[in-house]
Amino acid sequence: MWIYRWKQIGLYIFNFHHSLVFNIMFDLVIKDGNVVTADGVFKADIAVDDGKIVQLARKIEEHSEKVIDASGLLVLPGGIDGHTHFQLNYNGVMTADDFYTGTVAAAFGGITTVIDFVTPSSKSYIDEFLMRRGEAEGRAVVDFGLHFIVTDVSEERLKDLEVLAREYGVSSFKIFTAYRRRGLMLDDGSILELMKLCRALGALLLVHCENEEMINRLVDRYLSKGCVGPEYHALSRPAYVEAEAVRRVGFMAGLAGCRVLVVHLSSGQGLEAVKELKRSGVRMYVETCPHYLVFSDEVYRRPDGAKFIMSPPLKGVEDRRMLWEGVSKGVIDVVGSDHACFNSEQKLRPSRFTEIPGGVAGVEHIIPVLYTLGVRRGLIGLADLVRLTSYNPARIYGLYPSKGTLMPGSQADIVIFNPSLRIRLTRENLHSNLDHSIYEDITAEGHIQHTIVRGELVVEDRQFVGRRGHGKYIQRQTENPPTI
Ligand SMILES: [Zn+2]
Repeated sequence: MWIYRWKQIGLYIFNFHHSLVFNIMFDLVIKDGNVVTADGVFKADIAVDDGKIVQLARKIEEHSEKVIDASGLLVLPGGIDGHTHFQLNYNGVMTADDFYTGTVAAAFGGITTVIDFVTPSSKSYIDEFLMRRGEAEGRAVVDFGLHFIVTDVSEERLKDLEVLAREYGVSSFKIFTAYRRRGLMLDDGSILELMKLCRALGALLLVHCENEEMINRLVDRYLSKGCVGPEYHALSRPAYVEAEAVRRVGFMAGLAGCRVLVVHLSSGQGLEAVKELKRSGVRMYVETCPHYLVFSDEVYRRPDGAKFIMSPPLKGVEDRRMLWEGVSKGVIDVVGSDHACFNSEQKLRPSRFTEIPGGVAGVEHIIPVLYTLGVRRGLIGLADLVRLTSYNPARIYGLYPSKGTLMPGSQADIVIFNPSLRIRLTRENLHSNLDHSIYEDITAEGHIQHTIVRGELVVEDRQFVGRRGHGKYIQRQTENPPTI
């Protein structure tokens, strides 16, 4: 605070006398980096003051409180992971990460904003939202937003959603076309009703796309034959259950005229459906996750196959190749983590695949994985990396231009990435509270050196220097004005 006051006084005197004596201009200058935005790569210095980017120029010579030498490094807009599940109770089992450990892992992975979820119970949707926001406030070290999971479209609930979107910055809702037994599934009639509200509000609808009835038939058949291993999780949720639900949701979104985002796309068939729907004018976005770009379904036959259980499950090698193609050709809009991780004992103890808590870690892997397997192999460029992890999520989730880019006026969420680092993604080198790493055979060829959230260093030279509670709740915009 004192420094800030002095700087104001200094600035005033500087302006008044044109003197250089009090010329402490900025909080932070990042010098000589290769700045990457969704438009390309260029050499520039970046000046940060009061949590925002105030200047971006080839050379910034003015004095600054702190200078980071970024020569030979990449300077990226902070990553936005629109899909995390921290501090989540899954059928009585808690995730390994809460909002503190989860966001520490995020910061080490170059993610400066996460969007998590509110899961409703019997309380009012507003109360449920306030409670969830309270769980993250005071814990998160990076900024956070919240999507609201909708399981009921009664008049009262729809009114609450309107209030959440308009007054609390909850500009996106999430629904499930599966998980009836967990009370999360919404029927098609209710989905269409909710889509109409989304269109009226300019809100985004996130959809978990899998066909519930088809899955249940297959699950019951395998269980009745005594087929209980992790591989049957994948076999009971084949690609077509995803593709069917994507098409159905896309059809309804077309009818209602609302924007939908298919979360965690896992299959080539699903991708084909998305392509066709986009081509036909449906306002559909799609996310995939790092695990679908790294692994394929043969891992379910490993002794620790249960650790790879998530829904939708991993698909075949050809699906993985097609997803990479979708990423490189811009059909896939965002890469989010679906970070929902459970310790080894919780994953390995259940004897039947239906009882294994679903979800894996990923918030720390998005950027290193896309860089190592995407940029290094020439499948995507650096601008694509930024588009997938920051620019597109900011645009789609209602955070742009305060986040998602590096330009004067934007919040100073900045990641300084070192292409020379070699870090094997073992448990020891990661920062989640999880007790294992399914990525341990992979070595990142390049990783995050520093992470800055609204002007404050949270990770410096791969050491945590952040502060519990630094992360703020971010009100997100609806599409404004909504297209009618
Ligand atoms: Zn999820």
